[in-house]
Amino acid sequence: MSVPYWLEDEIARRPAPRREGRVDAAIVGGGVTGCAAALRLAEAGVRVRLHEQRRIAEGASGRNGGFALSGGAARYDVARETYGRERAAAYWRWTEQALDRIEELAGDALRRPGSYRLAADAEEREAIRAEYEALREDGFRAEWLDDVPGGASGRFRGAILHPDDGSIQPARFVRRLAARAADAGAEIREHDPVADVEALDADQVVVATDGYGHGLVAELSDAIWPTRGQVIVSEPLDRVLYDRPHYARQGFDYWQQLPDGRVLLGGFRDTSIMDELTDVEETTETIQHALEQFLGELVGTATRVTHRWAGIFGLTQDMLPLVGRVPGREAVWVAGGYSGHGNVLGFACGELVADAILGRESPQLELLAPARFAG
Ligand SMILES: Cc1cc2nc3c(=O)[nH]c(=O)nc-3n(C[C@H](O)[C@H](O)[C@H](O)COP(=O)(O)OP(=O)(O)OC[C@H]3O[C@@H](n4cnc5c(N)ncnc54)[C@H](O)[C@@H]3O)c2cc1C
Repeated sequence: MSVPYWLEDEIARRPAPRREGRVDAAIVGGGVTGCAAALRLAEAGVRVRLHEQRRIAEGASGRNGGFALSGGAARYDVARETYGRERAAAYWRWTEQALDRIEELAGDALRRPGSYRLAADAEEREAIRAEYEALREDGFRAEWLDDVPGGASGRFRGAILHPDDGSIQPARFVRRLAARAADAGAEIREHDPVADVEALDADQVVVATDGYGHGLVAELSDAIWPTRGQVIVSEPLDRVLYDRPHYARQGFDYWQQLPDGRVLLGGFRDTSIMDELTDVEETTETIQHALEQFLGELVGTATRVTHRWAGIFGLTQDMLPLVGRVPGREAVWVAGGYSGHGNVLGFACGELVADAILGRESPQLELLAPARFAG
């Protein structure tokens, strides 16, 4: 394992306001969710303290693939069938708006070259063709391509181009969010693990730990499953093969070429899928080997791997996050369970849980209510 590529970025200075005594809201977790919630609450005048056991963005928010995709974790046509056309469309549009807002806040941490959703075989082609048609029927911007230009040309059976999607330097973005939250008065405590959410000196608590912190709130243990993802990054190439994020096999394989020419590649969880249902943040030989082999195919020449790491994300049974009050608890809220799709959704849900605490209504709160798993 090495330091995740994203976390090598220089950390910008941020103010360090202290809050004395009891606060209105405590947030557990300093990833995109926790920082978005902290910013939203602090800007509304709420006294906020954020607790992060490591440093800001050192969980999944600094260890991911850097894809900033709109939409949910499930296919759009499937989402339409599962939760109804109107709700699915509203959910998708809400994530598009979140991506636009990320762009306003991210500066050079976000580019928007679009993304390719690729079909690896005839079956997947049929599936993503159905998704494409459903998206077009409901007025979303998407294009169908029988082949894609660049390094993936001739290797896949069709693709959806999502022209508005982005590529994000997630650690830089989240550190910027944290700095903005601190500017707005939020206290950020790093190296500060929380053992008991009920013992925090706060009127409300937001649990924003996604795949980490399993067991911190017992009621969530069966609803959000920790899942490991692994990533490699190559040395810089001297040519551009992939000009935007690519993902195939239901998202099991994903790669993009970064502005400095490196190829970042992640996935292959299905190589040993049960082993990857874990919160042990370690790379494994099986998956690293599969990734390296695929990197060779993507690049076509021997290419050195310079970075390799693992991260943990939270998976839910219905591929929808949980956002809202934890059933049976008066003052404990959750936002998490993005099923590997949290760069945009995490931001949106961090703001959403803050809005819920502020008493602001949103149709998404009904769709994402944690009560759907209360048993
Ligand atoms: C390998 C990998 C690739 C991915 N690729 C993509 C991608 O390309 N696009 C995409 O949209 N999503 C991707 N994801 C998912 C995305 O990274 C996550 O959904 C998102 O970062 C979740 O953000 P978060 O703030 O909710 O959680 P995190 O960023 O994981 O933050 C949770 C924080 O809580 C802290 N914490 C946990 N317990 C405690 C405690 N008891 N006390 C204090 N602090 C605690 C942790 O240290 C951690 O920093 C990927 C995930 C992984 C692992």
